[in-house]
Amino acid sequence: MNINTNKTIPYKTHLKENELPSAWYNVRADMKTDQQPLLNPKTFKPVTLEDLEPVFCTELAKQELNTTDRYIPIPDEVLNFYRMYRPGPLVRAYCLEEALGTPARIYYKYEGGNTSGSHKLNSAIAQAYYAKEQGLKGVTTETGAGQWGTALSMACGYFGLECLVYMVKCSAMQKPYRRGVIETYGASVVPSPSDTTEAGRKMLAANPDNPGSLGTAISEAVEVALNTPGYRYVLGSVLNQVMLHQSIIGLEAKAAMAKYDEYPDIVIGCAGGGSNLGGLISAFMEDKLAGKRNPHFIAVEPSSCPSLTRGRFAYDYCDTGHITPLAKMYTIGSGYIPASSHSGGLRFHGMSPILSQLYHDGHLDEARSVKQTEIFEAAKLFAKVEGILPAPESAHAIKVTLDEARRCKETGEEKVILFGLTGTGYFDLSAYMAYNSGTMTDYVPSDEELEKGLATIPDIGL
Ligand SMILES: *Cc1c(COP(=O)(O)O)cnc(C)c1O
Repeated sequence: MNINTNKTIPYKTHLKENELPSAWYNVRADMKTDQQPLLNPKTFKPVTLEDLEPVFCTELAKQELNTTDRYIPIPDEVLNFYRMYRPGPLVRAYCLEEALGTPARIYYKYEGGNTSGSHKLNSAIAQAYYAKEQGLKGVTTETGAGQWGTALSMACGYFGLECLVYMVKCSAMQKPYRRGVIETYGASVVPSPSDTTEAGRKMLAANPDNPGSLGTAISEAVEVALNTPGYRYVLGSVLNQVMLHQSIIGLEAKAAMAKYDEYPDIVIGCAGGGSNLGGLISAFMEDKLAGKRNPHFIAVEPSSCPSLTRGRFAYDYCDTGHITPLAKMYTIGSGYIPASSHSGGLRFHGMSPILSQLYHDGHLDEARSVKQTEIFEAAKLFAKVEGILPAPESAHAIKVTLDEARRCKETGEEKVILFGLTGTGYFDLSAYMAYNSGTMTDYVPSDEELEKGLATIPDIGL
């Protein structure tokens, strides 16, 4: 398939063009202290474009290293794809406000309105586009809960690229239908750890029942990309390039709120690798860093994988096999194997370096961790009154939104709350069933358990 450079597909031509942003926002251009560079895992020196090119598409590697361009134009082919499902709705949660009896005005930005069921398609289509443009044959990736694998398979299917997805084994077992969607779009799925790579075989030799983790799946996907001509590796979160693409969420949200003459006092998002939260707060962070407004940003993570709330701000590997660059980030250690929770999308041991630095500097104001039974309680209330069955990941943001709205009820404050509804939960029904039947349990690692993970953070003297 050829990529059309000038054709504008007339989807939703009734939309005013300015409702769909034509450029992504690169928050790094405005950060007072830029996050520290990725380090080459062999030399511990800052990575260069030459280091990244064997692994990533060249244009994406350039975006990864870009600290100067505040706005980066969205290619026309990507805009055309966005027009199929964007701008995403901004919804005032009137029924939820009424159910809570809160004076707060609650808005959510809905990212579940596409077949992949999450915000991940926003970056998947950009990454597939740059791979195709470079003339590559295919890409490899990992997927935790399966949303990223689904999004990438859709994007690769659209541009005619091959796609190989390493899916964390426990998720592959929890969610067999995810695989069905991924394969429908023409991609292949391998449960990880697998015997198809050296990294996977090593993990299996140590423990044949290893439930898998994102860190291991990343090692496998990178290994295959490096060893297969015409292939590169792509990642659905954490990286700077992904934060860049996801900025479209916040740019749209700010524009839509402005139409109602609203501006959020509090912005809440769930945080796995940090991409949806980073995207949601992006346009508001631009105002905050410029000293124009001061919204309160809250990251919500699962208590079973608490990188921001209980991790360390340190250089660490992004994968268990230690073949990826090191990033300065909040981490609980690449050797930490999180419990098989039902929020597969939030099981990464680290956090986006951009968000980590913003948190460290106090611009991302707060992080909270919540338990999975609490988030399903919140999800159920939301599903009943707002009509959307949320993804368990999204329900983390809902839970803290409920807490804040209830606090407003007590104090009588009419705060404006915006949260990210990142996706739908139709592939998570076994989790809902476990919650409904009362068999779901909570897992909070003890300090000793956490220490085992923290001890795997390398001491590189930085
Ligand atoms: C992947 C995912 C997340 C978490 O990833 P981030 O990079 O932290 O945004 C949250 N919600 C949904 C629905 C997801 O698929």
